[in-house]
Amino acid sequence: MAETVLQRITVLGATGSIGQSTLDVVARHPERFEVFALSAHSQHDKLLAQCLQFSPRYAVMGSSAAATQLAAGLRAAGSTTEVLSGAAALEQVAAAPEVHMVMAAIVGAAGLRPTLAAARAGKKVLLANKEALVLSGQLFMNAVADSGARLLPIDSEHNAVFQALPQGYARDPQGAGVRRVLLTASGGPFRERPLDSLAQVTPDQACAHPNWVMGRKISVDSATMMNKGLEVIEAHWLFGAPVDMIEVVVHRQSVIHSMVEYADGSVIAQLGNPDMRTPIAHAMAWPERIDAGVRPLDLFEIARLDFERPDFTRFPCLRLAFEALRSGGAAPAVLNAANEEAVAAFLDRRIGFLDIARVIEACLERSHCLAVDSLEAVLTADARARDWARGEICNRQAV
Ligand code: NAD
Ligand code: MG
Repeated sequence: MAETVLQRITVLGATGSIGQSTLDVVARHPERFEVFALSAHSQHDKLLAQCLQFSPRYAVMGSSAAATQLAAGLRAAGSTTEVLSGAAALEQVAAAPEVHMVMAAIVGAAGLRPTLAAARAGKKVLLANKEALVLSGQLFMNAVADSGARLLPIDSEHNAVFQALPQGYARDPQGAGVRRVLLTASGGPFRERPLDSLAQVTPDQACAHPNWVMGRKISVDSATMMNKGLEVIEAHWLFGAPVDMIEVVVHRQSVIHSMVEYADGSVIAQLGNPDMRTPIAHAMAWPERIDAGVRPLDLFEIARLDFERPDFTRFPCLRLAFEALRSGGAAPAVLNAANEEAVAAFLDRRIGFLDIARVIEACLERSHCLAVDSLEAVLTADARARDWARGEICNRQAV
């Protein structure tokens, strides 16, 4: 192995599912990685335990009340970690000159500003927060190109596509002779459930994913297949792939994480057990390879791999995402914001599972009046779409 320079990492969203898996990989390689900053929205106890294990220079909480609690815990333990709070502090620890790489693992549009700050500062950006890219699209990719940031996908599908593309062609599929990008999807917990029972499913049933353990928002997105829809848009931006080059393949075992088909008929797939530490370790060490603590794939145990076409009637959110990408403009930003509001309302039991797609569709119909040509315009589109979605949610609650 070439001599390794210690890489300082900021983990945004450290207490979440991706954040914890990232710190698991960090802990396996103390000679390679050092934690510069950790952030969490409200779980100060969990962040305290992480700070005591990894001794970051900074810890950032979402509110000053939570920051006060964390600071008290750190003081009592004799820690020197400095506690900050609020959105500006997130941008500060993402763009600090000492930082080599930033794990963007905040869920939802809340992660946009710090992730963009890391991109603008030319960091190695490990992108889990797909909503930030769906929301800001071209603006985000321009920031990456202008600063020379290195963007590495953490989403298992996009990480697989990245691995299946020749080095140097990450944003030029045509140049690489790509015919199709095949994004695999498990189909979530409701792939076979009787359609007439979907109106009654509960948040816990929607969050019980058959193959992956994830945060609640992305778990609901997997149950509606909006997650795959967001990933289609994510693939469009990450790889410069036109919408017609991207296809979704339902593959319930979640062993093939995605594939790239070439002009000569070759199809290159990346396989592995469904464990996010594989794409995380891949991106953190890239272009080298390191141990991720992941169980080796046992093909004899798996025995078979199944594939199906996606059912756009069962999963209207997937159709809406393709439509939003085809419409362009503010439509993807509206899709994302309306989805975040609708999923939060479903998790709070304010609307039913099938209402999620209805709320989003109603908002998308109004999206043409919005622009997304600057960060301010993107944030305005996000805010307007949330207002529309809240109105739709109220109307549905009243029914
Ligand atoms: P999670 O809910 O488990 O964790 C979210 C993290 O973000 C937490 O640390 C939380 O404190 C922080 N956070 C939440 N709201 C915030 C706010 N308003 N401001 C600042 N911080 C906030 O989510 P997750 O499953 O780890 O997913 C994180 C991101 O990674 C999502 O964008 C998701 O789509 C993506 N992703 C996750 C997985 C997975 O397996 N979990 C796979 C692929 C992509
Ligand atoms: Mg994924």
